Amino acid sequence: SRQRLKRLITTEAKTQCGRRIHLMANIELPNDVERVVESNADGVGLFRSEFLFMNRKDWPSEDEQFEAYRKVIKAMKGRPVTVRTLDLGADKTLQLEGGSGAPPTSSSTALGLRSIRFSLAEPAIFLTQIRAVLRAAKYGPVKILLPMLTNIRETKQALAYIDLAREQLAERRIQANQAVPIGGMIEVPAAALSVPQFLKYLDYVSIGTNDLIQYTLAVDRVDNQVAHLYDPLHPAVLRLVYEVIQSAEKAGAEVSVCGEMAGDIRLTRLLLGMGLTQYSMHPSQLLDVKELLLKTDFEATQKLVKRMARGFEIDKIDALMRHLHEE
Ligand code: PEP
Ligand code: MG
Repeated sequence: SRQRLKRLITTEAKTQCGRRIHLMANIELPNDVERVVESNADGVGLFRSEFLFMNRKDWPSEDEQFEAYRKVIKAMKGRPVTVRTLDLGADKTLQLEGGSGAPPTSSSTALGLRSIRFSLAEPAIFLTQIRAVLRAAKYGPVKILLPMLTNIRETKQALAYIDLAREQLAERRIQANQAVPIGGMIEVPAAALSVPQFLKYLDYVSIGTNDLIQYTLAVDRVDNQVAHLYDPLHPAVLRLVYEVIQSAEKAGAEVSVCGEMAGDIRLTRLLLGMGLTQYSMHPSQLLDVKELLLKTDFEATQKLVKRMARGFEIDKIDALMRHLHEE
């Protein structure tokens, strides 16, 4: 069946009825891009840039980061690359010294000074990264993605730093691409319930279902003892995901899912039925998802999910899932 799937590499990702779906890949380190190119993905939907900062004792310089981003952008040959800014903390910790001398992830819990909160607390580190991304954006289409946004203030602050990084580059007379879309990850329930407000400032959103599930259900995503409670099909999670997709659509903004839900073929149709047309996943999942989409009817799936979505009731999810997979 691997052989059968391989034949789908060059097939365009679309539904049975011809609706084009964008299947993108998640990467951690620049070398991962080789697999992405092999899988013929429509882009890199999530470059987890923090991996450039992990397992080392010093901070990567602007030039080092620039080279790393450029490598990925060039390899993708015109297909978009979404660089997520530093998402440190919780399960992703550093071994190096903080920008201001303090250990950067002393409060490294899932609810602590992590992710965008850390970047805003350490502007020098954030600015260095943004300058590197903007410089690399000269080599192909790039999007910046801000992780773990919770409120509008953080969003505005991050945007102000991005403007400042542009000014710094202009002062150095360094060429940079000015037209880089800036989006936010929706992975905190508070953000999921406020998408229209975020979209006044952001160009697009991407749903980080891994953290969204963790924060919605109060289940530590790396604690095995509560793994049985970590449920992507909990109606509260589904309502939030559906709400984000629908409100982005209403606002005319792009929305993708880049958490593990996007690469789970049990959930492909459910997400499609919610209106999702952009998935980003581990490259190893790409062909399986494509194969399923090729035999899925967009309209029929949407009708089915819309009908059930009124409440996403706890006792009706199993029935919905069965209906979706009757073909
Ligand atoms: C997520 O939270 O769903 C996500 C894509 O980001 P990460 O898994 O890196 O936290
Ligand atoms: Mg996350």
